[in-house]
Amino acid sequence: MMNNKVLTILLIGSLLMLLAACSQNTDVSVEKDPKDTIIDNEPNEEQNNPDAEEDPVVEEEVIVLPSQELQKGDQGEEILVLQKALTKIGYEISPSKVYDLETVWAITDFQIQSDELWITGIYDEQTKLALEGFLDKESTITPGEGLPLLEEEYLDDDTVVIGNPYEVLSLVNKQHALPAEYVPSDLVIPEVRFPFVEDVPKKQMRKVAADALEKMFTDADKESLDLFAQSGYRSYERQDVLFASYVSNHGEEQANNFSARPGESEHQSGLTMDVTSPHVNYALVVEFGETEEGIWIEEHAADYGFIIRYPKGKEAITGYQYEPWHLRYVGVKAATEIMERKITLEEYIEEILTN
Ligand SMILES: [Zn+2]
Repeated sequence: MMNNKVLTILLIGSLLMLLAACSQNTDVSVEKDPKDTIIDNEPNEEQNNPDAEEDPVVEEEVIVLPSQELQKGDQGEEILVLQKALTKIGYEISPSKVYDLETVWAITDFQIQSDELWITGIYDEQTKLALEGFLDKESTITPGEGLPLLEEEYLDDDTVVIGNPYEVLSLVNKQHALPAEYVPSDLVIPEVRFPFVEDVPKKQMRKVAADALEKMFTDADKESLDLFAQSGYRSYERQDVLFASYVSNHGEEQANNFSARPGESEHQSGLTMDVTSPHVNYALVVEFGETEEGIWIEEHAADYGFIIRYPKGKEAITGYQYEPWHLRYVGVKAATEIMERKITLEEYIEEILTN
């Protein structure tokens, strides 16, 4: 019995020593991993090692990128961290703690240059991962190679040409025009129903909006609704021809009420789709708002990042009559607030930029 006890104690003892040795080994291997050393172990090392300050690697500031989605107008410490990260990879932007137009530009330019990302101007999970990759590898970017940093330029007394046509929170209206040469680089044809079969340019939307539209149509199908897409992207040249024909038929003042001058149509942004249903014979008419499809759109479009861009009673702000069929992609966060509060994109943008 005594012998067995001694043996057991010896066994436990050697097991403990083995465990201790193992955990020491693990610690050593963690410290050897340069990535982990920089991100996780640095604060501990600094506490334990009085010579740490002499080590240049330890002096380097660690950037832990924010994990929440951020967009134009957002404010706070996490914006400052994002701006530091952007500065580190090559953007010369002033740290302001505000997701200002410069920050929107840098994020948009970064997204354009990194190929796999959706181009939105919004800092999202995928953008975070791509930025982390840059910081880890200490890579730098050539700012403006994707999207030059442009000032807004006045076209005439009351119309500016916007500098960043790619951001999904861009304002396009009778006072804010898209550049004449702007053709989005990421146009695709969404896999949704159209009431015609030809592969015409107006089937197209920008990737981020096309993906959202597909999801919305799939869910509408589950509700046995009969949604159809009618008209998406429209080039500057096409709008030019259309507007000229409206003017010759209805006169300029009337044409301006239901159509847009070239550059001022949201359809050129690639973020817009006119939708309809067989209940109004696939037409783009006010009655669409009273169909099952129109009512569902009004209630659910925001869940997919879309707004009804020209709501009833807001003609004085938007410059357009009520169009229950004209959907504009702005991202889920903005869409939810705009639709819930029954405000317009004009009001929303003004609020987030002046707060
Ligand atoms: Zn439209």
